[in-house]
Amino acid sequence: MPRKGGAGPSKLFWPLNGKPLLVRTLSAFQNLPEIGETIVAVPPAEESQIALLLDQHGLKKIKLVPGGKTRAESVWNALKKSNSKNSWVMVHDGARPFVSREALQHLFRKARGAEGAILAKKVVPTLKEGDAKERILRTVNRSALYEAETPQLVRRQALLKAYRENAEALQATDESSLLEPFKTDIKLVTHSGWNPKITTFKDWELAEAYLRKEEAPRLRMGWGRDTHRLVPGRKFWLGGVRIPFDKGPLGHSDGDALLHAVIDALLGAAGLGDIGEWFSDRNPKFKNMKSEKMLGIVLAEMKGHHLRVRQVDSVITLEKPKLGPLKQRIREKMAGLLGLRKEWVSVKAKTLEGLGPEGEGRAITCEALAVLEKGA
Ligand code: MG
Repeated sequence: MPRKGGAGPSKLFWPLNGKPLLVRTLSAFQNLPEIGETIVAVPPAEESQIALLLDQHGLKKIKLVPGGKTRAESVWNALKKSNSKNSWVMVHDGARPFVSREALQHLFRKARGAEGAILAKKVVPTLKEGDAKERILRTVNRSALYEAETPQLVRRQALLKAYRENAEALQATDESSLLEPFKTDIKLVTHSGWNPKITTFKDWELAEAYLRKEEAPRLRMGWGRDTHRLVPGRKFWLGGVRIPFDKGPLGHSDGDALLHAVIDALLGAAGLGDIGEWFSDRNPKFKNMKSEKMLGIVLAEMKGHHLRVRQVDSVITLEKPKLGPLKQRIREKMAGLLGLRKEWVSVKAKTLEGLGPEGEGRAITCEALAVLEKGA
C-alpha cells in the first residue's frame, strides 16, 4: 500500500485492486502479435525483486536492464539492448497501467507511413503563462496543444540516430521531442481512453476506485430454500404448475415452495434480503397471492439493479406424488417466467426414502440456485 507523503515501496509495486502497478502495465502489452520483445529498465536495486514479481504473475520473456538517472537514460539503456531485427520501438511509462488495446491498435495503424506516432490528449483546461513572480502574462492559445502520453512508437533507427547525434538527448522528457530537430513525421494519436500516469498518492486513490468498480465480479450467485406443510384440501402449485394431488402446501400465499426458493435465490444473489421481508405473511395484501406475481415483482427489481438472470438450478424434495413427466412442464413454465431458455433452467426431484417430514409425505422442501449477471 502506498503511503501518503511518498515514503514506502517503489511505486512500481503499488497494488491496484490487488495487482502491482508494473504487472498491470506489462499485462496490457501481453499477447500482441506486433510486439517482438519487451525490455524493462528498472532501478538496479530492485532488479531481483522485480524479476520475482514478473515470474509470480506469469509474465514471461521480459528482459530487465538497469535504469539510468533520467527517463531518457533508462530508454537509452533499453534501446541499446533491443534486437536490431525489430524496425520499430515503442516506449511506455511503467506507471501507465490503463492503456487500452484499442488505443494501441490505433497507434500501430497511424505510425505506418510515418516516422512514428504517440498517444496524446488534446489540452482542455485554459492555460496561462506566468512570470517568475507568478503573475499572469497571457492566456495561451490551446487549440493546437496536446498533452503527450505514452506509448510512443518510433522507428528504431531514427531514435538511435537521435540519441547519438543529440548531445542533450539524455535530458529529454519524451522520445518524440528527441526527433523534433530532425523534422521527422511523428503523428499525434488522440483516443477516448483513460491513460493516466500514476505518480502521486491521489492518482493511486483514483485508479484504485476506478478499478474496484471496473473489476467487480459480474456474476452473482444466490441460494434459496423453502418448506411447506402438505395438508388436504389445498391446491398444489409447484413452479407455477398445478399438480393433481389430494393434498397441497399450506401457506399464506399459494404455497409454491419452488418459486419461493427461486425468489430467495434471486434476492440472495442481488443482496436484497429475503422473501419474508418482501412479502410478509402478516400483510393481508399478500394473502393468497400467486407466487408467479411475486416472482414478476422481484424480476422487475433485478432489472432495476441491472442484474440479468442467467441460470437457475433447483431440487424438489417430495415423496408423493411422483413428479415424473411433470418435471419437464415445471421446467418449461419456470423458463418462461424467468425469461430464460429451457437449457438454463434445471428442475430435479428427490425422495427421502420415507425419512423425515418430507419422506413421510407431510411436507415439501425446495432448494434453488440462481446465477445473475451484472450490467448485461
Ligand atoms: Mg414459502
